[in-house]
Amino acid sequence: MDLFEYQAKKLFAEHGVPVPTGRIATTPEQAREIATELGGKVVVKAQVKAGGRGKAGGVKVADGPDEAFARASDILGMDIKGHTVHSVLVEQASNIAEEYYASFLLDRANRTFLAMASREGGMEIEEVAATNPGALARIHIDPLTGVDAAKAREIAVAAKLPEAALDGASTLLVKLWEVFVRSDATLVEVNPLILTGDGRVIALDGKVSLDENADFRHPENAELVDVGAVDPLEQKAKEKGLNYVKLEGQVGIIGNGAGLVMSTLDVVTYAGEEFGGQRPANFLDIGGGASAEVMANGLSIILSDPSVKSVFVNIFGGITACDAVANGIVQALSIVGNVTTPLVVRLDGNNAEEGRRILKEANLAVVKPVDTMDGAAKLAAELAAAAA
Ligand code: GDP
Ligand code: MN
Repeated sequence: MDLFEYQAKKLFAEHGVPVPTGRIATTPEQAREIATELGGKVVVKAQVKAGGRGKAGGVKVADGPDEAFARASDILGMDIKGHTVHSVLVEQASNIAEEYYASFLLDRANRTFLAMASREGGMEIEEVAATNPGALARIHIDPLTGVDAAKAREIAVAAKLPEAALDGASTLLVKLWEVFVRSDATLVEVNPLILTGDGRVIALDGKVSLDENADFRHPENAELVDVGAVDPLEQKAKEKGLNYVKLEGQVGIIGNGAGLVMSTLDVVTYAGEEFGGQRPANFLDIGGGASAEVMANGLSIILSDPSVKSVFVNIFGGITACDAVANGIVQALSIVGNVTTPLVVRLDGNNAEEGRRILKEANLAVVKPVDTMDGAAKLAAELAAAAA
């Protein structure tokens, strides 16, 4: 989960990483109030989970409360790289002498952690890496020893930070590492890390990605979720314990086993090319024990997606045999009720014959049994195209 800048800075502050004083506003009036409280110049910053806000006009310095009101009016509602700005961070403006870059991240390729730092900050770090790779220091971090004062200094020196910034940057890096470890992050990035006119080193921007696998030990993370941005169908699926991911297409997909579902997505995409580019509407793995209830939950989520025009139920019977799944489908259809969207069902594997017989005897108009995966994908795409 990626955090907003203001959330990242709150985490930073909690661990002693210096950040400018500021608060979040959702209206121009609030921005004016905060600017009045802070006094002096402020900076008004769009809160969207995208980089390059400055270039896009989403970061503006304001001389006082009235200008803060005006800048907030400009920025709120703006679209930055497809993200609508719903809130702005209003902060005390900083007097910037120099802009640097610092980050800690999980380096999967090398199975360790990595610090990256540069004297050239502010701009996109990918650009620095491409045009002037020598300016970007990369230092591996032993997870057992972490970042102590000496390691932090090694990073700052490798980044070629000037003498005046070395102490401040080293102190900050030790605390930033604490943020990384304590919050179970996969990335903490400060761009720019600045040296102020009066010689302090502070984090002017913040990006944090948290490892959701560690959510169980961070109940406080629940507050960080951007509820407005969560897909309602994904939310409903999560509550029912289903592995569901919303996609852009028209063919609803249910399968048992992640690998089978992944290949079903491919087969449907391929078959759909023949029918005007029909595509999978979702990923849904109902897992091994495909009971009627699980099938009903899955079906009801898929069918409440208005872009779904047909459904492909792709089952390979294993421990849960096809006859049990077929009974599950029949019961699920009566639980959900009034289903008019065609359901192409392919049963294979354990007790497939018995499963097909059950479906045939149930004689349900919406159920279209097909024996092969390719044939079923083709029919599902064809039916979706016909319904469009
Ligand atoms: P990003 O463009 O999304 O990465 O947003 P940043 O938070 O990094 O801000 C972009 C740029 O705005 C920074 O590199 C600074 O040059 C400038 N900026 C941000 N805050 C201040 C401030 O308090 N004072 C001044 N003078 N410039 C600022
Ligand atoms: Mn930035």
